[in-house]
Amino acid sequence: MIFALVGNPNCGKTTLFNQLTGSNQHVGNFPGVTVEQKTGQIIGSRDASVVDLPGIYSLSPYSSEEIITRNFLLVHKPNGIINIIDATNIERSLYLTMQLIELQIPMILALNMMDEVQANNGSVNINHIKEILGIPAVPISAANKEGLVDLMDQAIEVVRSNRKPLKIDFCTGAVHRAIHAISHLIEDHAQRQGLPVRFAATKLVEGDEPVLESLMLTENEIESIEHVVIEMEAELNTDREAALVDMRYQFIEDLCGKAVKKIGETSEYKRSARLDSILTHRILAFPAFICIMFLVFWLTFGVIGNNLSRLLTLGLEWLKDIVDAGLTAYGLNPIVHSLITHGIITGVGAVLSFVPIVLTLFFFLSILEDSGYMSRIAFVMDKPLRKIGLSGRSFVPMLMGFGCTVPAVMAARTLSSERDKKMTILLTPFMSCSAKLPIYALFTAAFFARNQAFIMIALYLMGIIFGIGSGLLMKHTIFKGAPVPFVMELPNYRFPSWKSVLLLMWEKAKDFIRRAFTIIFTATIIIWFLQSFDIRLNHVVSGSDSLLARIGYLISGIFRPLGFADWRISTALITGFTAKEAVISTLAVLTDAGITELRGTLHTLFTPLSAFSFLVFTLLYTPCIAAVATIKREFGSIKGTLFVILYQTGFAWLAAFCVYRIGLALLG
Ligand code: GDP
Ligand code: MG
Repeated sequence: MIFALVGNPNCGKTTLFNQLTGSNQHVGNFPGVTVEQKTGQIIGSRDASVVDLPGIYSLSPYSSEEIITRNFLLVHKPNGIINIIDATNIERSLYLTMQLIELQIPMILALNMMDEVQANNGSVNINHIKEILGIPAVPISAANKEGLVDLMDQAIEVVRSNRKPLKIDFCTGAVHRAIHAISHLIEDHAQRQGLPVRFAATKLVEGDEPVLESLMLTENEIESIEHVVIEMEAELNTDREAALVDMRYQFIEDLCGKAVKKIGETSEYKRSARLDSILTHRILAFPAFICIMFLVFWLTFGVIGNNLSRLLTLGLEWLKDIVDAGLTAYGLNPIVHSLITHGIITGVGAVLSFVPIVLTLFFFLSILEDSGYMSRIAFVMDKPLRKIGLSGRSFVPMLMGFGCTVPAVMAARTLSSERDKKMTILLTPFMSCSAKLPIYALFTAAFFARNQAFIMIALYLMGIIFGIGSGLLMKHTIFKGAPVPFVMELPNYRFPSWKSVLLLMWEKAKDFIRRAFTIIFTATIIIWFLQSFDIRLNHVVSGSDSLLARIGYLISGIFRPLGFADWRISTALITGFTAKEAVISTLAVLTDAGITELRGTLHTLFTPLSAFSFLVFTLLYTPCIAAVATIKREFGSIKGTLFVILYQTGFAWLAAFCVYRIGLALLG
């Protein structure tokens, strides 16, 4: 038994999905968070599962969310539909409901957010709604787990008894005649294609291309349909789409007039409007954004994250000493001993010690997202993004790019135009991903301890600015044309849910730790091996005779103009391609510095200026292998993917070169 969760964006589908299945999908106070359909088994009923679908306002075939959801309903034919509606905004939600009813799939209405309706003294006459729409309706509050048992009991009952929605005739006059005339014309075609007749007829009146194509009508039939539509348009004096919109809203208005006690402006709405008068203010919005980001970075690096990291480092040092002493006492072969202490513990430990910083940053970012602030920023950013040929919609994938380029590139999939999508994918790697954070944290602590938050923000901003530059370049060369218009609803500000904040942190931590013990672990062993043996596999005494040193020397020339030519640095940059954190673990292994000594050791390799140039290079150079693979999947071409790698690396080299040369000139 498969239930589809269908509803407007941000009405609580994923929240309900998580409650029903006990899973932990990402919930965001942010339209467009759910990109793909996700399936999960309902707790306590083994033969029933639910599918979380992207949020939509209508069953038209324009945006990719609409296409995904519509295809799922039409092709996979779930056994039942759970239509979630936001009870604080029933009118708008019912617009989709009216179209879902036409699909003739057993269906139930879940009126979510009843807690907010009640808190604002509103009320909904559920019996009335049930009666008029001819489907069961249950009031729930997904976030507070209220009404869920009742909802699922009734949902299962609807499917068991195969109770399809009543064929209510909500249309009147000319539209009514057009729909019925077309229904007769296409009935046999629709049945052959497995499309609900009433749905197909309505869609033809609207002028829906995919439905028209899939019905495989004859020339004659198409002509008759057009004739019917033209007559209807003439009679109503509106166009075909508007005729249906009007008709649906008329019906909804009547229904709500009878069954809903309006809550007017909820107190949540009023609070949101007050906050927005500053946070999306024409002039204040941007400075407010910068201030909030500064606060987040300062708390992360200056106050909380750094101190936690220091504690963890002490713990790791202590572990290393104990293991070291233990292995010496045991008399383990010195080469294996060095692999364990100088290879694995040093390398993996160097990465692990940054977990607290990453967690603290994501703690703040997920609060900003869950509260609803990030969608304001998408709105504020629409105007500047338009200047570089993108729309505010591209902001969501770009924002995800600050976490990890892989999901960011995947999120770009929802952009409706191919041009916007490709351009967004090319720009997301400029948003500095979280794996680069340990590198920044280490280097800024070593060289710019006093201005740490400032340098950190400068780096992030620099990525953004170079992204903008790149966008401008592309807008005038390979991606001419205009971005799609941007419409997004701003959800009310909400108090962040601790569960979803903690969940996101836990996911991040798990991801980071897993990477430390897989990719970083392997890279560390390979680096240790290449560094400990020479070309004839003799154990080397000094690192500069090793295999690795030879490879490093070969390419170090490329980096000399940027101010860092040491072979250990060039090697670290190569391993950084597997995962960015590997830059740190490689430097730790190669300089054989304990985690606390690493900062000091860096001073023998870099000057503050060359350290900054190095940071700029790492900020911009090629995305890691996982990101490159994802880009390849979305682009579908190896040429495009190679272009991304070369473009980014070339850009990085030039930027670091400029920074270094200008710096040298300024410092005299
Ligand atoms: P989706 O876009 O439909 O998947 O919506 P989400 O599940 O991501 O939820 C959107 C927002 O609504 C989140 O901030 C949730 O915490 C919030 N939310 C979901 N259900 C309820 C509810 O029953 N009551 C209240 N007050 N908020 C809810
Ligand atoms: Mg969702």
